[in-house]
Amino acid sequence: MSVKSSDRESSGRPATQSPSVVWLRDDLRVADNPALAAAVDRGQPIVFVYIWDEVSTGIRPLGGASKWWLHHSLDRLSTRLTRLGSRLVLRRGAAHDVIRDLLRETGATAIYWNRRYGGAERDVDAAIKEYARAAGLEAHSFQASLLVEPWTIRTGGGTPYTVFTPFWKAFLARAEPPRAPLDAPKALPAGLADDIASDRLDSWNLLPQHPDWSAGLAARWNPGEQSAHDQLERFVEARLGRYADERDVPAEFVTSELSPHLRFGEISPFQIWHRVDQIRRTANAEMSRNMSKFLAEVGWREFSYNLLFHWPDIATRNFDRRFDGFPWAPPDPQVLSAWQDGRTGVPLVDAGMRELWQTGYMHNRVRMVAASFLIKNLLIDWRIGEQWFWDTLVDADPASNAASWQWVAGCGADAAPYFRVFNPVLQAEKFDPKRLYLRRYLGAFDGADADAYPEPIVELANARTRALEAFAEVSSLPRDIAPPTEFGAQQ
Ligand SMILES: Cc1cc2nc3c(=O)[nH]c(=O)nc-3n(C[C@H](O)[C@H](O)[C@H](O)COP(=O)(O)OP(=O)(O)OC[C@H]3O[C@@H](n4cnc5c(N)ncnc54)[C@H](O)[C@@H]3O)c2cc1C
Repeated sequence: MSVKSSDRESSGRPATQSPSVVWLRDDLRVADNPALAAAVDRGQPIVFVYIWDEVSTGIRPLGGASKWWLHHSLDRLSTRLTRLGSRLVLRRGAAHDVIRDLLRETGATAIYWNRRYGGAERDVDAAIKEYARAAGLEAHSFQASLLVEPWTIRTGGGTPYTVFTPFWKAFLARAEPPRAPLDAPKALPAGLADDIASDRLDSWNLLPQHPDWSAGLAARWNPGEQSAHDQLERFVEARLGRYADERDVPAEFVTSELSPHLRFGEISPFQIWHRVDQIRRTANAEMSRNMSKFLAEVGWREFSYNLLFHWPDIATRNFDRRFDGFPWAPPDPQVLSAWQDGRTGVPLVDAGMRELWQTGYMHNRVRMVAASFLIKNLLIDWRIGEQWFWDTLVDADPASNAASWQWVAGCGADAAPYFRVFNPVLQAEKFDPKRLYLRRYLGAFDGADADAYPEPIVELANARTRALEAFAEVSSLPRDIAPPTEFGAQQ
C-alpha cells in the first residue's frame, strides 16, 4: 500500500502545506516530548492523534482502572493542545489502518512518535514505519519514556542484564547523564484544517457506567500533565527527605505516587531525574541517601522495561522455565474472590486488596504481601494475580506489573528466593504497628481489634509448609532462563 500523490491532492489542502502527524501513545504530555518537539521544529501544521487500539494482534486491552485514567488524561491533554492552538484527534481501530487513513486524509508527509517497548507494540510500529517509508513519507521515532534504551545496556558478555544491581551500576557508570528535559512549546504551528474527523471522547465509554465504581479513584487521583508536576513538587518538597526510611510504611504517604503519571507518560523519567538532581548540590548525606534510593526505584522501572524488551512474553510466561511444571492449585472461585474482595481473614492482605479496589492503587510493601499470599499461601498461579492487578491498578504497567509478579513468585529475573514467604502478620506488626493502615481500609473496629477479625481462609503455617514443599520440587532442578529475543534497535 502506498499513498499516491493523487490521494493527497484530493484532500484539497493548499499545495504548500504538508502537515506532520504526531501519534501520541504512552506519552500524554506536551513538555519533554521529543516527537512533538521534532514536529514543531519541522514548522508544518501538526495533526495530533491518539488511537484506541484493541484490535491489532497481541495488543493487550487496558484494564478498567487504566481506562478511567486514560479518559481523564486525554481530556486534559486535549484542553492543553487546544490552548496551544491545536487539537487532539481521537480515532479507534487497528493503528496501522488508522494511521494510513489519517496520512491520506490530511496529506501529511511526516509522522513522529515516541517509542514503546512491548513486543506487539513494536511490531505495529515497525509495520507502520515500513509502510510510511515505502510511501515516501518521513517516519521518526524517539526515546522518551526510558532513561536508557534497552538495547544499549548490556553485560560485558553482550547479553541483557537479568539482575538489577549490576544493571543499575552499569547505568550509573555511563559517561553521559540522562539528557536534559525539553521545554514545552509556547505555541504550535498554525494552519491546520479544522475538518479532520475525530471521535468524541465520551463515545469511547472509558469511564465505568453501571455500576460506577470510580468515586474512590476520583477522590485520590488527578490525572494529567499539570497534576503530575504538582505531585513531583510535593514529593520533592515534603516526602523525599523521609523516603529511604519510611517508604515501606503503608500508612504514610511518603512515596511519590507518580506511578500512574509515569505509566501514561504525563511526566517523563528525564523530568523526574533532573528535578531530583537539582537538589544534589545542596543535599547533605542524608538527603543524598534518600535521592539515591528513590532514583534506584525509578531504575527498577527501567530494569522492568529492559526485561520486557528482551523477553516480550513476561506477562504470560515464566522467566525461569523450571516453573512451567509448577503444581499450582486449580483456582477455587470462592477463594479467589475472597482475595480479590479483601475477605481472606488476613488483615494486611485484606486492607491492601481494598485499597486497590477503592483507589486503584496499593502501597508497594502491601503489593508484595498480597501477591505473596496469593502465590505462596493459596498456591494460585501468579498470572491470575497479575491479571487482577492489570484490571484494577491505575498504574497497571506492562513491564513493572509482570516483572514484579514474577519477582514475588520466584520465577522472575533477579527474583525473591522461593523460600521467602512473606508472613502477613509479622509484616503488619513491623510496617503498620499502630494499625493505621489497617484501620483506614478495614474500618476502626475490624482493623483495630485483631480478635474480632474473621479467621484466615487458610492456616498460615500449614500453607507456608505446603508452598515450600511445592517450590522445593522446582528448585531442585537447574535454573532454566529463557533466552532473550534478539532485536535490533527499536522502531
Ligand atoms: C505485585 C506487584 C505489582 C506491581 N505492579 C506495578 C504496576 O503495574 N505498575 C507500576 O508502576 N509498578 C508496579 N509495582 C511496583 C511498585 O509497587 C509501584 O511502582 C509503586 O508502588 C508505585 O508507587 P510510587 O509511585 O509512590 O513509587 P515510588 O516509591 O515513589 O517510586 C518511584 C517510581 O519508581 C517506579 N518503581 C518503584 N518501585 C518499582 C518496582 N518495584 N518495579 C518497577 N518500578 C518501580 C515507579 O514508576 C514509581 O512511580 C508492582 C509491585 C508489585 C510487588
